[in-house]
Amino acid sequence: MLDQALTRLDEAARHLDLDADVLEKLKYPRETTKVRLMIRMDDGSRKSFMAWRCRYDDTRGPTKGGIRFHPDSTMEEVETLAFWMTFKCAVMNLPYGGGKGAVQVDPHTLSKAELERLSRAYVQAFSKIIGPDRDIPAPDVYTNSMIMGWMADEYASIVGEATPAVITGKPIALGGSLGRDDATARGGYYLVQRLASKLGLEPGSRVAIQGFGNAGQHIARLLAADGYSIVAVSDSKGAIHCPSGLDIGKLLAAKGKGSVTNLAGADGISALPADDLVSVDCELLVPAALEDMIHVGNAASVKARVVLELANGPVTPEADEILATKNIVVLPDILANAGGVTVSYFEWVQNRQGYYWPVEDVHARLKSMMEREGDAIWALAREEGITLRSAAYVHALSRLAGAIEAHGTQQ
Ligand code: GLU
Repeated sequence: MLDQALTRLDEAARHLDLDADVLEKLKYPRETTKVRLMIRMDDGSRKSFMAWRCRYDDTRGPTKGGIRFHPDSTMEEVETLAFWMTFKCAVMNLPYGGGKGAVQVDPHTLSKAELERLSRAYVQAFSKIIGPDRDIPAPDVYTNSMIMGWMADEYASIVGEATPAVITGKPIALGGSLGRDDATARGGYYLVQRLASKLGLEPGSRVAIQGFGNAGQHIARLLAADGYSIVAVSDSKGAIHCPSGLDIGKLLAAKGKGSVTNLAGADGISALPADDLVSVDCELLVPAALEDMIHVGNAASVKARVVLELANGPVTPEADEILATKNIVVLPDILANAGGVTVSYFEWVQNRQGYYWPVEDVHARLKSMMEREGDAIWALAREEGITLRSAAYVHALSRLAGAIEAHGTQQ
């Protein structure tokens, strides 16, 4: 998996005149710590869970990246996600390196009290690794602001003082930022708005969304409010399809009760095997779930003209080539979903200043940063005749190379 991700680094390096040291530094994670967490279950028994935190590269600043709670998480996945965070922070010119963490657990099987004990156990185990100037976690798949709040609280009791900047994506009451909640989707939405005419998208265009968690729900809401037609949605239980467009209020209500698939059978909505979502007839496909969802086996069946990667790593390198030959434009993850970490950066800045911004300021700054980096990557792709993904990697790599060189030879 990391090997596959590194092919994008090699590809980008071909477009730059780089010192060999740069690639040697970026090819391997700097450090990955693995701990078996033990917690007390509600029935009195003890249970253990494997957990990791990877600090992939800190050349450009403290490492930054979410913590995922997922039953299929592995060390290699964490390292790959941390590699992507390194490039994502460089794409956006945030003063951060890349990190990531995970616990191998299905959080839906835990009670709220067990989840809190597990979250606190994570911070106890990694308290020497994380820190506001060292490594700053945030939410990711199946983690949320409530979990970040418990983690920030645990860190404060370990170090003996409130340290809100150690973690982002916190509840507002504990120093979270307004606008962090929908930031991942909103960043992608601003990018689509900015590039819509170039991409041949407009209100009325049909959208299929894979995954209906934080990113999937908010992008559906934002695009629907602009007049886009959400024709298909999936979650871990399955997919639904309605060529005349799904109602956003009903989608959110069904998800609140467990799954969007509860809507199947009513109002012209049909059930679809989850795997078929990527081949639904639409203009914009939004993978907003997990890695490797568009692969050699299904890439040829994609009918969309544009793919907005709100998930991390949803398209494999082989699938990328197939999409390129079909002239499908991919808005790459390290740009398209960078709104989340960008507003995390704003949260960290607000925590350090003790001065909190109105949501309009958060939105305006996010919009201008998405447009600034989006425009630069678009122009680079045009100049070099490369895909937006390659351009995003070249753009990030030149910033990383500049920082590696600036550190000098002793590092
Ligand atoms: N988990 C998110 C991501 O993959 C956000 C990370 C952060 O805010 O640090 O980009």
